This record gives sequence, C-alpha cells and structure tokens, in this order.
Amino acid sequence: MKVHIENIGDYLKKHEIKPSYQRIKVFEYLLNTKEHPTVDDIYRALVDEIPTLSKTTVYNTLNLFIEKQIAVVIVIEENETRYDVEMNFHGHFKCEKCGKVSDVDIDPEVINFDSLNEFQINEHHLYFKGICKDCLEKEKIKN
Ligand SMILES: [Zn+2]
Ligand SMILES: [Zn+2]
Repeated sequence: MKVHIENIGDYLKKHEIKPSYQRIKVFEYLLNTKEHPTVDDIYRALVDEIPTLSKTTVYNTLNLFIEKQIAVVIVIEENETRYDVEMNFHGHFKCEKCGKVSDVDIDPEVINFDSLNEFQINEHHLYFKGICKDCLEKEKIKN
C-alpha cells in the first residue's frame, strides 16, 4: 500500500503548494523512503545534492505539507518527530532494538469504531512497539 504519484510538481500544485525545487526534492525523498525520516535524516540525505538547503527549510517545508494535508507527523517517542507522506489508513511499528519504523497494513473496515460515533476525529495514530522480524532473526542466530 503506497500512494501513487505520477508527477510530484503537479501533486504539490493540486494541493496549493508552489512546487519549488527544494519542496519537490523533500517530497520525493519522503515518497521513496520507507524509513519515516526525521528532519535530520531528510536534511542529511539531501544536503549534498542541494547545498543551499537548511534544516529550517526542511522543517518549514514539512509543516507546509502537513498544513496542506499531504504529510503527517508520527510521534512514537516524545523526542523524535518523524514524517510520512503515505496518507492511506495505516499503522506504524517501531522496533525497540534497531529503531526502525515500519508501516503496518490495517483494514479500517474490520476495526470497530462505534465508541467514537459521536466524536469528531481530527487525527488518528496507531502505534505498535516491539522487536522487528530482522532483529528477531539476528537474536536467533546468536543463540
Ligand atoms: Zn529491529
Ligand atoms: Zn507510514
């Protein structure tokens, strides 16, 4: 399950965002990674290619994406803000060993939301924590 976007420039324009080079690059990076990166991750990944980039620009760009609802913030750990451009309903799993955050496919049709019927939902976050498959495999090999 991954958003399919033909042309990032058009996609940004459609959401009332002026498609500057830096904005396109930041969005493209988010689209192509499964890592749910932090501001630092995005900055480090792009600064070689865009020497004029600053962390503030990355941060402001992400806030704009969030405001226009083409990205969401993921906060599983209080001191760690990650970003995601996958807007389809899904959850996240954070590995307590390697720190990797992966997508969790969730079918909203099979979840019972009846107790929220009279509420207005602005955001939803579904988080799981534990040890990922790769780390469990490594454990097994060690023992
Ligand atoms: Zn892991
Ligand atoms: Zn995600």
